[in-house]
Amino acid sequence: MALFNKVNKGELKARLQESDVIRTTLSFYRYVTIEEPASFRAMLFKRLEEMAVYGRIYVAKEGINGQISVPQSNLNELHDYLDGLPLLTGMRLNIAIDDDGKSFYVLKIKLREKIVADGLPEGAVDPAKGGTHIDAETFNQMTDREDTVVVDMRNHYESEVGHFEGALCPDVETFRESLPLVHDLLEEHRSKNIVMYCTGGIRCEKATAYFRKQGFENLYQLDGGIIEYARQVKARRLANKFKGKNFVFDERLGERITGEVIAQCHQCGTACDDHTNCANDACHLLFIQCPTCAEKFDQCCSSKCKDFISLSAEDQAKTKKDLQFNGSKFGKGRYKAHHDEMGLDLG
Ligand SMILES: [Zn+2]
Ligand SMILES: [Zn+2]
Repeated sequence: MALFNKVNKGELKARLQESDVIRTTLSFYRYVTIEEPASFRAMLFKRLEEMAVYGRIYVAKEGINGQISVPQSNLNELHDYLDGLPLLTGMRLNIAIDDDGKSFYVLKIKLREKIVADGLPEGAVDPAKGGTHIDAETFNQMTDREDTVVVDMRNHYESEVGHFEGALCPDVETFRESLPLVHDLLEEHRSKNIVMYCTGGIRCEKATAYFRKQGFENLYQLDGGIIEYARQVKARRLANKFKGKNFVFDERLGERITGEVIAQCHQCGTACDDHTNCANDACHLLFIQCPTCAEKFDQCCSSKCKDFISLSAEDQAKTKKDLQFNGSKFGKGRYKAHHDEMGLDLG
């Protein structure tokens, strides 16, 4: 750990890009009571560091949630280690679909209040009492039916670049925001089959348990989420009902599932589904930018950010506190106002 503190982020990223170690990106989660998250974290960190694992893992009393990359040569060892931990026996490792192995450059294991922030009081939902898990084939059959409604339980910037045909995609920035909003959307569909999905399944475990408590009955969740769906569709040659990209929370920012590009550049409106963070670190807005606009705006979200990064470090420091950038103003995922500013109506 000491080593990481002495080396800056840019240096670590550069090392990763240059490295010829072949890495596999994967994710996992389990809702399970972890009595002593701090000691569990310490034990995990020691072994994963030995296996040169990079990534981000959250440990809480309610369970574990991880997105990591591991040198391919250590994949079996990692699997056996995790499987050997009584709390994690039998946990699925969701292997990434479209993977260059450059997903993470450092290992961080953080203690959290919850592995998925839901804004609910402790113990309000029991993820073990969620909806019925369905596989890709059942998902395809069910979603062909008129009496089924599909709900995307992810955030707007995720569903914007890829989602299932006909899914309700709530305009939310966080999971906690989505629960009341989806509740409103579902009121008129109470009698139908309700099928929920997210990236890997973790959010649906909670969401379906929450909606069961709210009196909804026919609740289903896509087992293993979009990642497992894409794997099954490929392995079993099923029809693929997912369109576009699967947004991921790592350096890749997305995995291509199908060829269709369903989003547009936020600056010029041309077809594009490449997320990027504004190059102005004081802004860091997450937005969609095409290569032409990237060049025109020096990888920035606006002329304001472009002008700011062209200043000397001294002038930046002087003016920074008086300026508000899109990202600092609206948060990581909030770019609605940015659309307005650019005069774009993206519907
Ligand atoms: Zn553009
Ligand atoms: Zn910016």
